[in-house]
Amino acid sequence: MKKGFKYDLIIIGGGISACVFASKYLRNNTTKKIALIEVGRGLGGRSSTRISKRFKGWRLNHGAPNLNICNSKNDFLLKSYIDELLENKLIKIDDSEIVSLDEEANLETMKNSEFNCGINYQSLFSMSQLSENIIELNNLSANIDFYFETLIVDLEFDNDEWTLTSKDGDKFKSNYLVCSTNLLSHKRSLKILKVDQIPLRKAIPKNKDKKIDLLLNFLDKQSFIPRLTFLIYTNENYNFKDLYSKKYRCFYLKKSLENKYKIERVIFQSLDNNKLGIVLHSKNIDFINSYTKTKDENLFKQKIFSNFNRLFANNASVNQLICNEEISIMKWRASQPSGCAVPLSLQFSRKYRIGFCGDWFEGEGFARIEGSILSALKLEKKFKT
Ligand SMILES: Cc1cc2nc3c(=O)[nH]c(=O)nc-3n(C[C@H](O)[C@H](O)[C@H](O)COP(=O)(O)OP(=O)(O)OC[C@H]3O[C@@H](n4cnc5c(N)ncnc54)[C@H](O)[C@@H]3O)c2cc1C
Repeated sequence: MKKGFKYDLIIIGGGISACVFASKYLRNNTTKKIALIEVGRGLGGRSSTRISKRFKGWRLNHGAPNLNICNSKNDFLLKSYIDELLENKLIKIDDSEIVSLDEEANLETMKNSEFNCGINYQSLFSMSQLSENIIELNNLSANIDFYFETLIVDLEFDNDEWTLTSKDGDKFKSNYLVCSTNLLSHKRSLKILKVDQIPLRKAIPKNKDKKIDLLLNFLDKQSFIPRLTFLIYTNENYNFKDLYSKKYRCFYLKKSLENKYKIERVIFQSLDNNKLGIVLHSKNIDFINSYTKTKDENLFKQKIFSNFNRLFANNASVNQLICNEEISIMKWRASQPSGCAVPLSLQFSRKYRIGFCGDWFEGEGFARIEGSILSALKLEKKFKT
């Protein structure tokens, strides 16, 4: 970026909602120049993939492994976008086995849970690649300047112009702003960004815009579900006992089992290097707290192996782990929003030239990829009118 360059639009965040929005926006505004600013090293956000430097060829989806679309209201915008992703071979129907485990470790085909209502889809590549491919879909990514490893900590709106400041003091200017994360609009920003006022509140003072005041009020009541994900790099030749060969195999634990083993679901992922990766999810708050406090990560890892082996001790398809496999642990402070969802009517303020998208908006896709995609599609329409 040349010094003093002003973008038509800046998007904060590089998760799936930001990518859907950017792709749709550019298709209808081919001459506009936009910037996408993301604190992480690449695209994907909470639907991303861990690429191990130590283990070549290992790409494990450690956030959302796939996406499910309920769309029971038959939203045409969402339906046609999913069709577009299917036609362009970015996603395909995911017919992997999803089962729930009960107390006796008996298997039961899953019905209608949060993550498998409607139709399940998987990315044809990894989840991070899905976001990358969405941006590339219309060959307009040359109109985007990407700034990775850049954390925005301050927002300013003056003379119809947005100025964003990063943690390192870099300034970015634009006519319009899209926040695909609510971090800069939520009270958790005070601690995480070490600021003394919520950045959006500072940029747009109280009583200047009713929509922004309402949005901040709703967000004040929104909380977040923390999660731990354990990525297990299995040893050479580790495989299922049976001949299962689909990309994923997912085991959900019924509540009593989840409480016992501190595991919410176990997702097996067969990788391009012919290895079988395993990702364990936990949202048990006591377990997460004990991990945060632990001084001995190895002991914690042994607990994970032991819980895994006890859980699958009599299972007909899953082999035991030897307990010397490598594990990496990811702590998600805010894996999904919970509680109060923000109404979609508050998504866009023309007066302040700012829009919002993400899974934190109301609707049946709330807290899931479905909601992220739909909010991005709806926001793009609001920019047009
Ligand atoms: C472990 C886990 C499992 C999940 N499982 C499922 C599932 O099975 N199915 C499902 O549908 N959903 C699932 N979800 C939820 C799903 O991942 C999210 O709903 C979806 O990815 C949200 O996308 P988004 O674009 O709205 O937000 P995000 O992906 O969070 O994108 C926002 C981006 O903004 C960046 N950012 C934030 N603040 C700043 C800043 N100040 N400066 C610069 N960048 C910033 C963040 O790094 C992030 O990349 C899961 C989530 C997790 C964590």
